[in-house]
Amino acid sequence: LVHAVQVRKSYGSNEVLKGIDMDVTAGEVVCLLGPSGSGKTTFLRCINQLEDIQAGRIWVDGDLMGYRDQGTPGASKLHRLKDKEIAAQRREIGMVFQRFNLFPHMTARENVMEAPVKVQGRRKAEVRAEADALLDKVGLGDKANAYPNQLSGGQQQRVAIARALAMQPKLMLFDEPTSALDPELVGEVLEVMRDLAGQGMTMIVVTHEMAFARDVADRVVFMDGGVVVEQGAPKDVINNPQHARTKDFLKRLR
Ligand code: ATP
Repeated sequence: LVHAVQVRKSYGSNEVLKGIDMDVTAGEVVCLLGPSGSGKTTFLRCINQLEDIQAGRIWVDGDLMGYRDQGTPGASKLHRLKDKEIAAQRREIGMVFQRFNLFPHMTARENVMEAPVKVQGRRKAEVRAEADALLDKVGLGDKANAYPNQLSGGQQQRVAIARALAMQPKLMLFDEPTSALDPELVGEVLEVMRDLAGQGMTMIVVTHEMAFARDVADRVVFMDGGVVVEQGAPKDVINNPQHARTKDFLKRLR
């Protein structure tokens, strides 16, 4: 479902991604691990074109992200898509950030309804029923009328997940979704993510939650210094890392 080839990204002279290759199949859950600054967040943002890349290509479900490929294989030329076209591509990908970014003046239900109604122009009554079902799914069926400031961080993050799901994404990207939460609220968010994984959602998750990666990921990818250092089944990479950098990172987490 995701096919990334030799992705490079720089901020000025700082090359943050130095040729990332990554394939994610439909229904797969991949956890991205790595030290701070290794480029994990940047790579997620490149997938949905929140960042433009300097080299390489990313396909999501067969669509080349951000560009139109013209010409023949070997001699093809890339043309940047219009903002509107990129926005349309981005809509098919759900993203959940470290901070929940809910609209503060809208209830949980209104937050979930916003994009399907405003962006897709769908009928409110229909979307409302779906929003309530999604809030139910994330365990917040009784909080539909609550405003973000009446909800805990964990509840807000679950609303953010429901909001992303409302657009029926084919891929979900999670950027350290529990790292801004009080420890006692982490579990409820991971539980929702675990359910989602169990239902076959394709997910790429940047996380430092090793227990989650071990239990839920089909594969973990360890990044450092803008490259993929090592990847494989969680039990192999986490319990028996091969590279010194992976060993060092995991040791420091313990
Ligand atoms: P963390 O776990 O801390 O989020 P990360 O692995 O996700 O780390 P990134 O956030 O992708 O790392 O950052 C990689 C590098 O890119 C860092 O050196 C960071 O300073 C730099 N960087 C990220 N965003 C920008 C930006 N908008 N402008 C300039 N430099 C940036």
